[in-house]
Amino acid sequence: MSTIFTQVINREIPADIVYEDDTCIAFKDINPQAPAHVLLIPKKEIISMATVVPEDQAVLGHLMVKASEIATTLGLSESGYRLVVNTNEDAGQSVFHLHIHILGGRRLTWPPG
Ligand code: AMP
Repeated sequence: MSTIFTQVINREIPADIVYEDDTCIAFKDINPQAPAHVLLIPKKEIISMATVVPEDQAVLGHLMVKASEIATTLGLSESGYRLVVNTNEDAGQSVFHLHIHILGGRRLTWPPG
């Protein structure tokens, strides 16, 4: 089932897009939890990490490479950043289209809440 992120991909709702290619799109989180908070999503409608199949390997690898490049573009490479993929209820996943949070620009605490 499609989510609001498919509407972002299809330009049906506005988003502050920071990167896009044939496989993925990255845009600023509407409710940022850090000075830099970008969501990186595959254009393929993968529900969550819990539904990933072997055929998703190339897409997921692509996302990790792009996450690194986007973090560099955001100026986070040296200071540091965190990639987060909330998965299902205990992690608080609220949008069921797989997404990588790219968080940085402040000191992030550990362990996460
Ligand atoms: P999660 O809780 O891990 O599923 O993350 C979903 C994220 O999507 C939250 O951080 C929301 O603030 C963000 N979000 C929801 N709708 C939008 C939107 N239309 N544009 C940008 N970010 C959104």
